[in-house]
Amino acid sequence: AAEEGFDVEDVEGAIEAAGHGPLPVLAVVGRPNVGKSTLVNRIIGRREAVVEDKPGVTRDRVTYEAEWAGRRFKVVDTGGWEQDVLGIDASVAAQAEYAIEAADAVVFVVDAKVGATDTDEAVVRLLRKAGKPVVLCANKVDGPSGEADASYLWNLGLGEPHPVSALHGRGTGDMLDAVLEALPEAPEQSFGRAVGGPRRIALIGRPNVGKSSLLNKVAGEERVVVNELAGTTRDPVDELIELGGVTWKFVDTAGIRKRVHLQQGADYYASLRTAAAVEKAEVAVILIDASENISVQDQRIVTMAVEAGRAVVLAFNKWDTLDEERRYYLEREIETELGQVAWAPRVNVSARTGRHMEKLVPAIETALAGWETRVPTGRLNAFLGELVSAHPHPVRGGKQPRILFGTQAGTKPPRFVLFASGFIEAGYRRFIERRLREEFGFDGTPIHISVRVRE
Ligand code: GDP
Ligand code: GDP
Repeated sequence: AAEEGFDVEDVEGAIEAAGHGPLPVLAVVGRPNVGKSTLVNRIIGRREAVVEDKPGVTRDRVTYEAEWAGRRFKVVDTGGWEQDVLGIDASVAAQAEYAIEAADAVVFVVDAKVGATDTDEAVVRLLRKAGKPVVLCANKVDGPSGEADASYLWNLGLGEPHPVSALHGRGTGDMLDAVLEALPEAPEQSFGRAVGGPRRIALIGRPNVGKSSLLNKVAGEERVVVNELAGTTRDPVDELIELGGVTWKFVDTAGIRKRVHLQQGADYYASLRTAAAVEKAEVAVILIDASENISVQDQRIVTMAVEAGRAVVLAFNKWDTLDEERRYYLEREIETELGQVAWAPRVNVSARTGRHMEKLVPAIETALAGWETRVPTGRLNAFLGELVSAHPHPVRGGKQPRILFGTQAGTKPPRFVLFASGFIEAGYRRFIERRLREEFGFDGTPIHISVRVRE
């Protein structure tokens, strides 16, 4: 590396940075109007702008990436979920429950000016039961005179209240230091799979695509509920299901059941649920209703799984209802609307007739294999060397940036760091990704490529 103009330390640092596994997850919970959204915006800082660059995605997005003191983590924002017809207590409790389930640590936001309410107490009980680390945020302490209000919150029994003004930024740094202490380095629940333990599948898709029908079809009567938080209204439930001679864990299957009573906020609620399931899973089986046009909502769900870095399988359901014309148009739609996951294995199924159910497991196995693929550095560089000499980067400003060498920094999903002599254009990066896929497989997995440029 040194002779190519990179410091050994730079190279090691870059590999380390790119190779981080899945990020730990922080949930921000609390009653409406206590300032959760304001706080989340403050935590994610300028990254928010990146989010807003994608029209149409913002409203449904509930997890964001953040960084503090050099550590990266994800933030689950529950602020967009307003009171629903169940009433304030039930809705706050349910919202908190999902977020807590998916999280490695929790920031519980209380309005210090108002003090602790009964609803706050209800959330405290949930937090105790879940046993996750909690940082108590006493919000709306805009100046020193509010500090006394914050100290009353010791009574909640959650330890030290951190006086914060989410609006002005006061105290947020100290609070984030406490958050970093509470967050594990690597998320335990997400990838702490016991060796030989069941692989985790999230079966996701918009309402009515056939998720419960599919689950019933593949599972029959052999479902084993493995995890139920007793006494709560909407429990995240994982089920063990044997398919193709192997036991799989379908995470958060309670989210698949119908919730007719939910009207207001139901979309947001469904997104939160989907995000929580995806966080817990290794592979997302995304169900799409093949009889209907592929919708923006389908695309958002796909984006969620890809951005979370999960293995992906696309299952087109209700195949029994398709005529030749629809099949023709579906293929065109898949090309234009689902180009971002052209690499995902695809199965055309019918939960009603059982068509091609037996193809589901091989597709899942393919995706997981791609997700875990590691390319040895020697092979990767032989491939890059050939690629670069056969297809050099276009000359820009009289110079020709070159990929000098590369390494795979991590798996699940595969992450690569390439070292270059100059700025590598997006088009050329995409070209490299395509050729990497052709050469090494990676079916069913997103891959990350970061490029370091020699100074
Ligand atoms: P959420 O419903 O919990 O997400 O709450 P929001 O973030 O939407 O905030 C509710 C209201 O409280 C908004 O009008 C905010 O401007 C206000 N607010 C949030 N944080 C603070 C704060 O630290 N100080 C003051 N004075 N107001 C705040
Ligand atoms: P979910 O909301 O995603 O769980 O969807 P459901 O499993 O409740 O299915 C929604 C509707 O689609 C129900 O009326 C199902 O009977 C129907 N459905 C599900 N799968 C199929 C299928 O493969 N073929 C047909 N024709 N209908 C299906």
